[in-house]
Amino acid sequence: MTTPLLPILQDHIRAHGPMDIATYMQFCLSHPEHGYYTAKENVFGRPGDFITAPDISQLFGEMVGFWIADIWAQMGKPRPFSLVELGPGRGTWMRDILRITDRIPGMSNAMYISLVETSPARISEQAAALHGYDVTWFDDVDDLPVDDPIIIINNEFFDALPVRQIGRMGQNLFEVAVNLDHKGDLHRVKIPYLNDIPDMPDATIVEFSEMRDQVARALYARIRHQGGVILTIDYGYDIPLGRPTLQAVRNHTHVDFLDSPGHADLTALVDFGRLAALAHESGLSVRGPVGQGIFLKNLGIATRAEKILENAPLDMQENIRTGLSRLVDPDQMGVLFRVLCAYHPRGTPLYPAGFDPDVS
Ligand code: SAH
Repeated sequence: MTTPLLPILQDHIRAHGPMDIATYMQFCLSHPEHGYYTAKENVFGRPGDFITAPDISQLFGEMVGFWIADIWAQMGKPRPFSLVELGPGRGTWMRDILRITDRIPGMSNAMYISLVETSPARISEQAAALHGYDVTWFDDVDDLPVDDPIIIINNEFFDALPVRQIGRMGQNLFEVAVNLDHKGDLHRVKIPYLNDIPDMPDATIVEFSEMRDQVARALYARIRHQGGVILTIDYGYDIPLGRPTLQAVRNHTHVDFLDSPGHADLTALVDFGRLAALAHESGLSVRGPVGQGIFLKNLGIATRAEKILENAPLDMQENIRTGLSRLVDPDQMGVLFRVLCAYHPRGTPLYPAGFDPDVS
């Protein structure tokens, strides 16, 4: 399909040769004019291309609100502290979270909110959702405030950061890249990959992301220095699957990722084993990854749902029940979505909630 980004990609490939997948993703998602996140209105929710956990149910934000209040108390109720969200989309999650933390004595006066977001269209949606709150935006994690204890949360953020795809065929490693066919259309090619990847099984493909590693390391270094936690939630795996996971979604339908550059959402599953290993390397403690279902159940989502149901009008009750099952059921988001916490205490030891074996 022709999109405004297509001729830009074609020119780039004609000038520089085949483009690695990470560069392709970067163009498609973040091109300053025609990138999916930069340009597109309405990417989230029913009219948009996909629905994320905060849009499914307010329970998701509320449970994480309680989790944040608990960890803040464990940290010794520091004042001030920095609450940071990465890639907040429409701002729904933070709004639901703040509804809970606003009720905790002393908490709202102690926190200042920082959002990391690159898309101007998303920033205006977030500003509207968080009207009345004192919020600062940053387009790079490196610019976040550096002194105070920090609580960082993110949902479906790392999956949007670009990955490269490397495969093995016998002795040979190759990289999947995007090239032009004889008609000038985009198509996949394999180009030689010259670095070695030890222990990579034959006939498999791995995805790795320089940008994810870089962002994770920068955040972990901050936590090590300032004290605090990062809670990461996303779809992913604990051990590499051996196959490519990059996917494109448009109007709630899967499409080929070369199909409509800049008009489809591109994401790849997150390697949680890698995020955990980098946290250990940075001197942090780690809990998880566990499935989102176990995490939310451990935090008491079922009890909270019952309580909301008691006061909900009849026509809302079905919605609340289906929202709950979508978040926690193993065949819905309960297992594929992983939750990881990396943390470093400043003073009292920390014990992030929700990661014990299933207690429900
Ligand atoms: N957390 C939200 C939105 C997920 S979509 C939710 O769960 O609904 C990914 C979000 O990350 C979008 O807001 C997108 O604009 C933002 N984003 C993508 N790449 C980014 C980058 N490199 N730096 C900061 N934000 C980014």
